[in-house]
Amino acid sequence: MSNKDLAQRFIFDNADIRGEIISLQDSLTASLAAHNYPVNVKALLGELVAASVLLSSTLKFEGILSLQAKGDGPLSLLMVECTDQGTFRALARWDEENGEKLAAKDLQGLLGNGQLVMTVDPHKGNRYQGIVPLHHETIAAGLNDYFEQSEQLSTGFWLTSDGDSAAGMLLQALPVNLEEDETVRAETWQRIAMLAETVTEQEMLELDHDTLLTRLFHDENARLFDGEKVTFDCNCSRPRSAQIIQDIGQKEAESIIAEQGEISMGCQFCNQTYVFTGKDTADIFAGQKPRTH
Ligand SMILES: [Zn+2]
Repeated sequence: MSNKDLAQRFIFDNADIRGEIISLQDSLTASLAAHNYPVNVKALLGELVAASVLLSSTLKFEGILSLQAKGDGPLSLLMVECTDQGTFRALARWDEENGEKLAAKDLQGLLGNGQLVMTVDPHKGNRYQGIVPLHHETIAAGLNDYFEQSEQLSTGFWLTSDGDSAAGMLLQALPVNLEEDETVRAETWQRIAMLAETVTEQEMLELDHDTLLTRLFHDENARLFDGEKVTFDCNCSRPRSAQIIQDIGQKEAESIIAEQGEISMGCQFCNQTYVFTGKDTADIFAGQKPRTH
């Protein structure tokens, strides 16, 4: 069975540890299709998408999780938004004039003075945001640091991407259930995390999840559950764009129409453009529905 564009949970029969594994292919290609990013920017974005879906699996919530890597270097932003429904969208902002120079740089060289920002925006309840410095060689190392600082449960990320496909794995200690002794729990975590650490990028990108888990954890009784589909879906739309025009107010909207003849709104995630004429804009403020095409 193909595991592409699938996120799968796994557990260990003899350890208080859970895991999640993800492979992205068509969904990643679709999300990057509207952009012309250099290959290493695509690869970093692929890793960030994998990380976001893994993260959303650890947080039980309904809503949107966004993960951003920001910096003052030639790559100023990597951003992924994903929903509890397994959909995501992604974008990068980078210095296009010096695109060829980006290829030689690692994460730190690209981002410069970097930050990792995680935002959870639930449908119900309060928005939560966490920020940590991102001075690491990889996104996974940054996330591991983030969890070490903010969570009590041990958590580890393994991420990789070649720009065309991406893969990720997460291990997280569970609250006491099978084993109460702290020393034994710590030893078990160490042992299983060390096994995970032996994984290669090639194995992650090429092996199906079942084979990969058997190869990594064959003596640890890992059990893989059914997967959940992961898809690219940009939730921008003409009605949402009309709402934004409504939010900026009639006066401001009319002044843009007077100046530019129309209001043109582009989606940075999927490059879709929504154009509103003077008539469309007048309709919005007259409380009518704008035309759909
Ligand atoms: Zn869009």
